[in-house]
Parts: sequence; C-alpha cells; structure tokens
Amino acid sequence: MFSKILIANRGEIACRIIRTVRRLGIASAAVYSDADRAAMHVALADEAFRIGPAPARASYLDGAKIIDAAQKSRAQAIHPGYGFLSESAEFAESCATAGVVFIGPPAAAIRAMGDKAQAKTLMEKAGVPLVPGYHGGDQDPALLSRKALALGYPVLIKPLAGGGGKGMKIVARAGDFADQLASAKREALSAFGDGRVLIEKYLSRTRHVEVQIFADSQQNCVHLFDRDCSIQRRHQKIIEEAPAPDISGELRLAMREAALSAARAIGYVGAGTMEFLLSPGAFFFLEMNTRLQVEHPVTEMITGIDLVEWQVHVATGGALPLRQEEIRSLGHAIEARLYAEDPPRDFLPQSGQIAHLDLPAQGAQLRIDAGVHAGDVIPDDYDPMIAKLVVWDKDRRGAIRCLRAALAETRVAGVATNLDFLRAIAAHQAFEAPPPDTGFIERHRDDLLVRRPPAGHDVLAVAVVGLLCERAAFGREKAQRSNDPWSPWNSQNGWRLNEHAQETLCLREILPGGCGDRHVEVNYLRDGWRIDLLGGTFFHASGTLAPDGTLAADLDDRRVNAVWVRSGEEILVFVGAEAAHRFLQAGPSAGAARRDEPAGRLTSPMPGRIAALLVAPGAKVEANQPVLVLEAMKMEHLLTAPRSGIVKEFKFQLGDHVAEGVELASFETRPPPDGAS
Ligand code: ADP
Repeated sequence: MFSKILIANRGEIACRIIRTVRRLGIASAAVYSDADRAAMHVALADEAFRIGPAPARASYLDGAKIIDAAQKSRAQAIHPGYGFLSESAEFAESCATAGVVFIGPPAAAIRAMGDKAQAKTLMEKAGVPLVPGYHGGDQDPALLSRKALALGYPVLIKPLAGGGGKGMKIVARAGDFADQLASAKREALSAFGDGRVLIEKYLSRTRHVEVQIFADSQQNCVHLFDRDCSIQRRHQKIIEEAPAPDISGELRLAMREAALSAARAIGYVGAGTMEFLLSPGAFFFLEMNTRLQVEHPVTEMITGIDLVEWQVHVATGGALPLRQEEIRSLGHAIEARLYAEDPPRDFLPQSGQIAHLDLPAQGAQLRIDAGVHAGDVIPDDYDPMIAKLVVWDKDRRGAIRCLRAALAETRVAGVATNLDFLRAIAAHQAFEAPPPDTGFIERHRDDLLVRRPPAGHDVLAVAVVGLLCERAAFGREKAQRSNDPWSPWNSQNGWRLNEHAQETLCLREILPGGCGDRHVEVNYLRDGWRIDLLGGTFFHASGTLAPDGTLAADLDDRRVNAVWVRSGEEILVFVGAEAAHRFLQAGPSAGAARRDEPAGRLTSPMPGRIAALLVAPGAKVEANQPVLVLEAMKMEHLLTAPRSGIVKEFKFQLGDHVAEGVELASFETRPPPDGAS
C-alpha cells in the first residue's frame, strides 16, 4: 500500500480523490498553479506544491514539474484524475522512469485508445461495431471532402486526439465542408496539438450510453453496468445517469460483452469506459476513455463501490475486490454538472468570482462533489465547473424528484451559470419519459432557455429591504466607531434636519436583454419603512439581514425568507427557488443611462485570441453574419456582425490576445440602396 499519493489535478476531482485517499489512511499531496493558490483542493490536501503559472501548459500539463513535486513530497504514486495528464501515455511512462506509480492503465493501453483512429481499427478487429466513417491516415482535404460526400451529409468532423467535444463540427452540406474542416483543424491543433481529424456519418436521434469497466493486473475484468449521458450541449455531457434506462436486456448484454472483450483485447488495467452511440436496436463504438470519468459518481451511487479506492488497490497490484456476480446495482442515480457558463450565449464559459454559493446538504440520497467555495474565483484557464450534484433513489422517477429538489436548493451568483438551465431540464416532461437522446437540448432549446421576467413586486421590495438593512448595519458600525453613537447625525432612519424622512431609490435590474430601472419611494417610519413601488403598490416593511446574506423581510404581515448579497456594485436577491435577480443601485437621475452596448459595436464577450478573420475590411456584411472567430477556453466562438453594414476596420490582428469587452471591429452603416429615401 502507498503511504502518500500526489494528485495531479485541481478542482472537484482533486478534492474527491483526496477524500478517498484520506479515508484509506494515505497522505495526500496536491499541486497548484498561481491561479489556484487559494483553491479548495490546496487547502484540503496534507500538503501542496506550486507547479507554475496559471496556464495549464505551464503547470497542470507540465509532467516534469508534477513528477518533481511527487519526488519532493516522497509520494509513491500519482493519481491524475481526469483531463490534464490522465490520458497521456508519455506522462505514464515518465512516471515509471521516475519510479512513481501512475494510477491508471499501462501506457500502451492509453496510447492504443488515445488516438480515435487507432482505437477504431482495434475495435473493428475485436468485432465491435463502428459508426460508419473514415479514419485513415491521409488527411488531404480533397480526400476528406470526397469521403464525406460518399458517407452522405450530415457528417461529423472529429479531432483524432479529441476529447470534451472540442473541435467537433457537424457539417450539413458539402458547401460548408471546407470551412468547417479548417475550423475543426484549428481548434484541434490549439486544444490537442494535433490537427488530424476523422469523418463520421452524423447519426441523429441516438443516445450516448457507456459501460464502466474495471480490470486488474491478474487478468480479471468486470463491468460496473452502464450510464446514459445523452443530455449534452456542445457534444459535452451535463446530465448523466446510471443505469441507462430503457434498454432491452439483449442489447445491454451485447454492449457489456463488447466493452469487456475490447478491454481484454488491449490488456487493460484499471478503470475505463467504453462509449457507444445507441440507436434503436443497434450500438456503435465511439471511443474508450482510459481514466476515471467525470460522471463516475452515478456508478458509485448504484453499486456502493468507491472507484478511486479500487484504482488505488489495483495500482498496488491487488486483485479486483469483487467478482462480476458479486457486483450489484441498486436503484437509480443522476448527476447534474453545475458550470459557470452562459446558456443563452451558446453556453459560453464564464470566469469570475462566485459571490454566493449555497449547495444543499449532502445525505444518503444526495452527494455533492464541489471544487469551490463562495468567494472563490473561477479562473479562465481551466474547465469552469462549479460542482456536481449527484442524487439517488429507488427508481428513475424518484431520482428525478430528488434532482429537482437539490437544484431548487442550490443558489449561486456572481458568475452566470447553467443552474436555471439544469432546473429546466429536470422539470421538463420529455426528460421523464421516454429516455432522452443527444438531440434533447437542441430540440427543447426554447423551453429550456427560459427568459426570466423582470423582478415582481415581492422581489423588488425584498431588494429594497435588504439595501436598507445593509445601510442600517453600516450606519450602526460607523456610529459605534464615532465619539457619539447616539447623535441624530448617525441615525439611519432617514432623519435629516429640515428634510422629510423620505427618499427615492433607483434600482437598475440587470436582465439578459438589457437593464430596467425601477424607482421606489421609501418613507422612514419608527418601526421600519413604507416602501412604495409606485403604481399603487406599497408595503409596510422591516427586516433583518445576517452577515451570510440571509434576509428575513417582513412585507406587511408576511415574512419572506430570502438571500441578499452584494457582489461589488451588484446586489443579488434570491427569493424562493428563483434564480438570482441582479440589481445595481443607481442615482435617481441615472434612468437615462443604459449599460447596453451601443448599437453596431462588436466587442469581445470574453478574454481570448483572434483565431480567424472571416471577412476583409471593407466587406459588406448582413446582421448576424459571422465575421471573426475568437478562441477562448480551448473553444472557438463565432462572433457575428451586430448589424448589417460595412466592416470598416478590425482593431486587432490574427493571433492577438484581446481582453473582455474591447471593441474588435468597427462598422459603417450601409448606404441606403439607390432610390431609397
Ligand atoms: P469527445 O471525445 O470529444 O468527447 P466523442 O466521440 O466522445 O467526442 O463524442 C462526443 C459526443 O458527440 C457523443 O456523446 C455524441 O453525443 C456526439 N457524437 C459523436 N459522434 C457522433 C456521431 N457520429 N453521430 C452523432 N453524434 C455523435
């Protein structure tokens, strides 16, 4: 057994691994980049080593630095988690050379499966059905285009070294192939350092079903049932469940057999996942992941097995703790991934400080794997996951109910998240039955992207009560510090010499489509305030605001329990299970000013690099026509013309790094057509 393990990862997965390692009585060493000095995983480990600056290439992806940290810490093994170096055969080999155990499969198995083309060839030999496609070595664009045509559109272009849905492009018609190929190659090169791609027939209405397998070094190999991960955006999972619902016994068995024989064929050791696309009555091999999956907790919930414990055990040469017939599946588990991302803006990853985070209490039916606390910053260098909520119940219906409850109790503010989106999925009837396919999000996009209406009267009144409570607390603090705490000048009830105890407040609500100003008149009373929302609605109000943001607001004879937090200039208000309402306090005259973008400006939605300019200066463009590609967080984001007109100039050149909010191009309105007045 090891006495110390180094965890070469960050965030929730590092925290999750540290917990098991600790339970096994093994010491843990973490690593961190400069962006993670204050991160949760660093605080949780017994010790932690700085491995470099924020960019992953200079820290979490730098194998030499990680091995150096393992040697300094005298750890006998390295657990890579998922992502980063978990599927790097070179890293596994470097560990062996350095005399440190890599907790994962043999380098040869990683190599065999790391390249999608090679994996497909292997699987074909093992008799596993493949998605029709081309995965040959010849990457001539003309050849790829001919192959696509022969397969029949739509086709999918996929990076050979891919992962996380990055660089994948669905191409609907032959005319789009060349552009999409170029974009896929650029993205693949930047994300994986390898621009090669494969082409597959795009199969619609399929499900993503995967089989968890586990093998030891003594030729034992078992499966731990299946998972359905069909709820995806950008080809990346956000909700996963186990077992995969509604699959015939025969098909399930065939998939498990295929997974086991594939694992045996490559001499696999450790935890691995065979991913399949499932269409009615048939399944096709997608890829094998030679590591722990993000969604492994759903398997742990239904089997009661700690997969990290098994990984550690197998890495010491131990035999699998259970035989196939001893592994049982009980009930149903669902995982929802809470991300800092903006669903209405094509799930654009977000970075920034989490001003507020309430996660529901864990119990037998709810597990939370989080990697951040309230106040932490989501850096823009890594995957922006906040937490995973994993629920369990006797059956799928019960698990969906638990998921809805868990999401309703989750509150997060400060960065845009997919929380509302997850709630909408969990609440959607189509999610309940029949089992969803990978087109679920696209098909139900309009239902899922609910546009929150402006704050109602209660929320607005609660926002004002919180503001007045905050002000009163601030005044009390100031008075305590002053020489005369009882002076009327320190009173916070609005009293002023020769003035009415009355004022008008302006709260500017920040809504997805812009801002709306709400004027409120406050009269200071002996026992609280009279809050007049104008237009005939008023409340006799009072309240208490705790330092953690808990606000008990009394509106007439009703108590509203809410959360009120300040995040810089912003005020965030949570009432019931609603998402945070966001306000800025504006002066009474600020109504005219708007935070909206002036029409016709194209600004950078996030920090990134200009990856392609799609039109030349002087080009005529239509509104919403793609004009440039911004690469951020390893993904390409197509930026479109804000209106029709002429591109006057680009403010940056290809390859330039740009900050968030900067103007990228200027436009001129197109002159009216001849004869038009
Ligand atoms: P990555 O390695 O980037 O995650 P995968 O090959 O695992 O890429 O595919 C990710 C997702 O994309 C799948 O779960 C599936 O939803 C979708 N997908 C992949 N290949 C196809 C295909 N040929 N037809 C339809 N959907 C596909």
